[in-house]
Amino acid sequence: MLSGWREVTARRPWRISAKLLIISSVVTVIGFSTICVNVMLDMRRGEEALARQTLENLATTIESDVSRNIEIYDLSLKAVANNMLLPELAMVSKTVRHLILFDHATTARHFGAIQVFDAEGRLTIDASTLDPLPESRSEEDYFRVHHDNPEAGLFISRPMLFRGTYSIVLSRRISDTDGGFLGVVAGSIRFSYFHELFERLSLDPEDTITVLRRDRTIIMRRPFDLDVIGKNLGTRPDWKPENLQVGGSFAGKGPVDATPRLYVRSGGSSPLFVVAGKPLSAVFALWQKEAYRIGAVVLALALFVLGSTLVLAREIDRRAEAERKLEEMATTDALTGLKNRRKFDAVIDVEWRRAMRQKTPVALLMIDADHFKAYNDTFGHQAGDQLLVGIAICISDSVSRAGDCAARYGGEEFAVLLPNTSATEAFGIAEAIRGKVQGWSDDAATSTVSCGIASLVPAAGMDWSILVAAADKALYAAKAGGRNQSVVASLPKLSLVA
Ligand code: GH3
Ligand code: MG
Ligand code: MG
Repeated sequence: MLSGWREVTARRPWRISAKLLIISSVVTVIGFSTICVNVMLDMRRGEEALARQTLENLATTIESDVSRNIEIYDLSLKAVANNMLLPELAMVSKTVRHLILFDHATTARHFGAIQVFDAEGRLTIDASTLDPLPESRSEEDYFRVHHDNPEAGLFISRPMLFRGTYSIVLSRRISDTDGGFLGVVAGSIRFSYFHELFERLSLDPEDTITVLRRDRTIIMRRPFDLDVIGKNLGTRPDWKPENLQVGGSFAGKGPVDATPRLYVRSGGSSPLFVVAGKPLSAVFALWQKEAYRIGAVVLALALFVLGSTLVLAREIDRRAEAERKLEEMATTDALTGLKNRRKFDAVIDVEWRRAMRQKTPVALLMIDADHFKAYNDTFGHQAGDQLLVGIAICISDSVSRAGDCAARYGGEEFAVLLPNTSATEAFGIAEAIRGKVQGWSDDAATSTVSCGIASLVPAAGMDWSILVAAADKALYAAKAGGRNQSVVASLPKLSLVA
């Protein structure tokens, strides 16, 4: 019976607590959400990489078209610069001179006519006419650069109005064989070239293409805006130079408008480079839609899991509470509210072994109502029950330490287990109980208790029934001695063993 009881009372270690369930659910939800967020971020990075690649291809394609045209035009400029040194040139007619100096490249649609200026900046030869009107370009940038620097090579000007149309001027220095300055040969590429080039591409309205000189002067931009053309990015206060390295990209606010874009710079080494930009909202439009959809599903699932967890946790709590009440009912005496015999047996078993390990004394009080049969007979069974409740209250009032266990042992007999208590201390408690019962009852003659007390330090191999027998014997002695008294068991032999 005892071992069966232990099975009932022992806590099952694997029992799921509501807290554990909530914690594991929350951890699971956090885990899944983290995985989901990571997957979404990976997808985002993938979208960005794809957009970067597309923009880089676009920028590189435009750059190579622009640089090919500049190269063709530059070849013509170089030819003019070289041919200007031919001594025969002075001897031929203007028409023949034109034929020698200018090839067909110069007549292409978006290229302006090539002009030659002498060392003072005066126009001397013009590909578009045999008799050019006098004009001077000595103050122009492209003239000054070549005048001051023999090594300037091909110079590309800032965008400017050149012969009535917006153009960039390409120029080369004409030097004699000793490197002396003879003048400048210059030509222009009209903006119409860029407009036509950009129109051929299928771009969204918010996409930008910017053509820049190596010193970061904006040569051309789509969408076209005269205000930014010719400006240098270095003068834009919110634009950092490291934002666009060769072949690099930058995501954020650009130098011209506030729309955040992904900007990618072409990787070539031509005199002009291209930056292609796409709004971040367009780059991530598809991803954002997908992220919202998956996010909503994950959120709904998480809420569902957490909701059902809370319901389950409440159910577990409810059952645990019911179990606790049942357990309490199974260990409590219904009439007196003290522990019942079953519980007492379980407790004394545990305390006995603990005292054996710790070599401390265990005391036991056996308390029995005196002449209870007579009381019942005189006042009735119900009054007898009331008296038992009264005695139980007197016992509970006197026994207050944590390990103490007061129980109804059977009928009108009570047992009080007092761990770590000597016989003397136990006697004091027994006397207190006896005094309380006597003081509390109306009829001292019929409502008293007798106490048998035993206390010993259990030795190895000793059973706790010895302690019960000793206390019982002492109780018998108290009865025999006239009742309403406490008697301590004499345990000479046992004490010796202990
Ligand atoms: P003693 O002083 O020697 O202990 O005499 P006693 O009359 O108390 O002892 P005895 O064993 O002769 O009688 C015990 C009585 O207690 C018998 C029984 O009717 C009564 N009793 C046992 N359990 C209960 C109970 O739960 N309620 C009531 N009212 N009486 C009970
Ligand atoms: Mg009795
Ligand atoms: Mg009895």
